[in-house]
Amino acid sequence: MTDVNHWLAKTLVTAYGSHTLFVLEDLTNVTFNTDDLPKPLRNSHRSWAFFQLESFLTYKTQAIQSAVVKVNPAFTSQRCPKCGMIEKNNRHHETHEYWCAQCQYRCNDDRLGAMNIAILGQDWLNGVKHPKIKKLTTAG
Ligand SMILES: [Zn+2]
Repeated sequence: MTDVNHWLAKTLVTAYGSHTLFVLEDLTNVTFNTDDLPKPLRNSHRSWAFFQLESFLTYKTQAIQSAVVKVNPAFTSQRCPKCGMIEKNNRHHETHEYWCAQCQYRCNDDRLGAMNIAILGQDWLNGVKHPKIKKLTTAG
């Protein structure tokens, strides 16, 4: 995993170059599904790998005047990037699709998460210190 993380961080930094903002979800308090890992590794292994990648990426970006910013992961897989509706049921795990019930926007669910994370990175660039998606209560 360490080799993969080195390769991945190097590939990202090489592909995007200097003056790039890499936006990652802050997974500090997120639990990972580790049911398929051997018992001794269950509680720490996947989060360890992710934090190692974050560490490598942060180190490599500093050398080329780029940066890593972490954003709150809440609702990144539930918000429609077109109309702003937040709805858990818009995501269809079995088809890896997000389909907005309000504006009918459709795309791959991982792509949708990446779009929302990119929007939060833009918020950070605009001066929001801890960007996050706020779920507003809807009337009716
Ligand atoms: Zn929508």
